[in-house]
Amino acid sequence: MITEYKPTTYLDFSQPANKQGIEDALKLVESQFSREYPLFINGKDVKTGDLFKSYNPCEKTQVVGAFHKAGKKEVDLAMDAAWRAFASWKNVDPRERAIVLFKAAEIMRRRRFELNAWMVLEASKNWNEADGEVAEAIDFLDFYGREMLRYSERQPITPIAGEYNELVYIPLGVGVVIPPWNFPLAILTGMASAAIVTGNPVLLKPASDTPVLGYKLVEIMQEAGLPDGVLNYIPGSGGVIGDYLVAHPKTRFIAFTGSMEVGLHLNQLAATPQKGQIWVKRVVAEMGGKDAIVVDDDTDVAAAVEGVALSAFGFQGQKCSACSRAIVHEKIYDEFVQRLAERVRKITVGPVKNPANWMGAVMSGSAHEKIMQYIEIGKKEGKLVAGGEAGPDAGYFIQPTVFKDVPANAKISCEEIFGPVLAVTKARDFAEAIKFANATDFGLTGAVYTRDRFKLEKAKREFHCGNLYLNRKCTGALVGAHPFGGFNMSGTDSKAGGRDYLGLFLQAKVMSEKL
Ligand code: NAP
Repeated sequence: MITEYKPTTYLDFSQPANKQGIEDALKLVESQFSREYPLFINGKDVKTGDLFKSYNPCEKTQVVGAFHKAGKKEVDLAMDAAWRAFASWKNVDPRERAIVLFKAAEIMRRRRFELNAWMVLEASKNWNEADGEVAEAIDFLDFYGREMLRYSERQPITPIAGEYNELVYIPLGVGVVIPPWNFPLAILTGMASAAIVTGNPVLLKPASDTPVLGYKLVEIMQEAGLPDGVLNYIPGSGGVIGDYLVAHPKTRFIAFTGSMEVGLHLNQLAATPQKGQIWVKRVVAEMGGKDAIVVDDDTDVAAAVEGVALSAFGFQGQKCSACSRAIVHEKIYDEFVQRLAERVRKITVGPVKNPANWMGAVMSGSAHEKIMQYIEIGKKEGKLVAGGEAGPDAGYFIQPTVFKDVPANAKISCEEIFGPVLAVTKARDFAEAIKFANATDFGLTGAVYTRDRFKLEKAKREFHCGNLYLNRKCTGALVGAHPFGGFNMSGTDSKAGGRDYLGLFLQAKVMSEKL
């Protein structure tokens, strides 16, 4: 019997069994660092001999795995295999397709410590962040499986005398799934499993910084009994094979999550019909954010400080939902800044293999360089009150950094930095704070801390973002409870983990029979 969907409970690592579980898994995973990973096309391993490596961001030179790289030839092979698989996969009973997801969720539960350990070592997430992400991946599988059951039920349609009318949802065809490195298992699993459960085979190109975690989904789906050709794994540089994949005339849809620049580029590319292409490609593009937390004078300042610190610096500020701007009422501004600086100085930074470190390294050398450049810009645009320095050289560490007195139109207030850098801005009153919060091109998450009911209502009406939180942090969306997706340049508002999501991978066919 399929029970009602419920989000996964997080592991408590103060429990000795859980602590032991992840410590053993970290050792196991480290013993597998020298592995080579093939492509996976049509149910078979494919080796190209052209390899790239993924590294542990906390220990720059430590190789996590070596990956065979796909080129155009392998993309074509995978595309043909996927279309062949479509012929049968589209006709598999949706309940059977859902069962594959439920099995995959069960396998992830069984391998949870191991997946957590890969996350710690390949993506530099601390134990709790790693477990939160693995839990989210499990939730996507559990939720979309159930959603497929719902979409396959009889759909309501207005009855007409003398006709028998029905509407059914059918899959689109072969899709390309392009996830980011910052949720290398959850977002990748969410997009791929939504496409697969709705009957669409997938070409999965993982982010080049985190390919192991993508490969784990391939292993898990294989064990769960997914037929050959339905999930094809083709790692390779986005810049090199990405355009080819997106422009390919046989690509029916693209599910992308990543930066605004790449998302807009892919959207444009997908809009141009290619020779032999017979459809308008569908693009699901979830992109960047410049998320703000508004702190009113009538609030619990301690709770607001905690919410801002967790939202700004959890996973080194590398969540699309991370708070990168705190907009604070002038009456409590000085107190807020002082308490925030004290709180931030307590954050521990270092290799996240050690649970004593709350913040790990940023993802890569290029991310580190870009963030440090923004810190230099911040020193000119505001006043540094915490951090501002790189961390120990062994990894890509950066101290949690806070600037105060940053104008709402400053570069560090408007551009996505995607690292542990927070701009604090003073607002005359609540209305001005909301105006500042809306003054970027993005619109992903936001939060408001106030005790005032009317101000909460005003924020609900006027704070323009896809996911608004009231008196709580702006990160940590739960599948099913907080369907997630942004407005404006943050994306197509596809609301991952919500009831509309599977519809993006389906098309409705209406049949009317005269009686
Ligand atoms: P990115 O640089 O845009 O890359 C995302 C994916 O696109 C990667 O797999 C990348 O491959 C690929 N790619 C790059 N160039 C491409 C091209 N020309 N054609 C096709 N694919 C291409 O983003 P990221 O640095 O991985 O992720 C961080 C960004 O994602 C941030 O902006 C963050 O806000 C956003 N994000 C948004 C959400 C949301 O729900 N709105 C969630 C998470 C993250 P390579 O790795 O090989 O370059």
